[in-house]
Amino acid sequence: MQVAAAGGAFELIQKEFPEPGPGHVRIRVQACGICHSDSLTKLGQWPGIQFPRVPGHEVAGVVDAVGPEVPLFKSGQRVGLGWHGGHCNYCIPCRRGDFILCENQLISGISFDGGYADYVIAPANALAYVHDDLSDVEAAPLMCAGITTFNCLRNSGARTGDTVAILGIGGLGHLAVQYAAKSGYRTIAIARGQDKAPLAKQLGAHVYIDSTAQVPAKELQKLGGAKVILSTLTSAKALEWAMDGLALAGKLIIVGAPDGPIAVNPFPLLLGRRTVTGWPSGTGMDSEDTLNFSALTGVKPMIEVYPLEKAEEGYERMMSGKARFRAVINMGK
Ligand SMILES: [Zn+2]
Ligand SMILES: [Zn+2]
Repeated sequence: MQVAAAGGAFELIQKEFPEPGPGHVRIRVQACGICHSDSLTKLGQWPGIQFPRVPGHEVAGVVDAVGPEVPLFKSGQRVGLGWHGGHCNYCIPCRRGDFILCENQLISGISFDGGYADYVIAPANALAYVHDDLSDVEAAPLMCAGITTFNCLRNSGARTGDTVAILGIGGLGHLAVQYAAKSGYRTIAIARGQDKAPLAKQLGAHVYIDSTAQVPAKELQKLGGAKVILSTLTSAKALEWAMDGLALAGKLIIVGAPDGPIAVNPFPLLLGRRTVTGWPSGTGMDSEDTLNFSALTGVKPMIEVYPLEKAEEGYERMMSGKARFRAVINMGK
């Protein structure tokens, strides 16, 4: 299911998938999540992206063929492919072992054709093994929405028992709340409307704050302030208050792409040693940790499933913000 030119519709095409080259494997795709970042491919917003291009960076599948110089994976093994589509091993971040910041990083569905397809050919160093207890449609969204929130939280510096607030209960947020609760944080979910309170509790939140009826910063300060606020919001304006909800030395971490610059009051940063930062997804091994933790603790995405021919419908549903909570293409094999 490819996009022929920036802003074009998805078109179903037939093509050959050759034998994988050195360091690469061919994956038979079983399921692929539809992520908001797929719009970067569809709309041609990623600098230098070339068309035609097949989007998709939430792949769960089975190794179909293994190229030369791949010591790890074998045909028939279940694997996942996420946003991180491989690293070069030789740039300075890679030489320091910080592969997610690789200067030559490939991105699945942007640098090469992704998972809205029967097959994907990908660098082996980007892959994760998929845990037996996860189905393909469950594993797929964890390869981006899952790893991003899980890997962000576990690297946030928050310790067991610390107060962690999740802003937004959508595709990323509904997973972040589960990971935060299962990781042993005092988990605060913040979203719009009282109707989301039962869901927040069901996902494991200890406290729910309705941002339309309460002042979230005040509510957080009543609880001692948040050590970490993880924002999945897409409105820059909607998260400007967040600095005021942080504890001393607290950290605001942005994982959802906001629609513009965020105004930050410097005084809480200066006086309280607070931080505003962001977090990218993670490597194949980080994805594997995400999948294993999800299987261990029962974290699952809530999904809507579409066949490949209905990728456009699933994509529109995701873009409209109405999907509950992740749309997933199921190849039905
Ligand atoms: Zn994504
Ligand atoms: Zn590199």
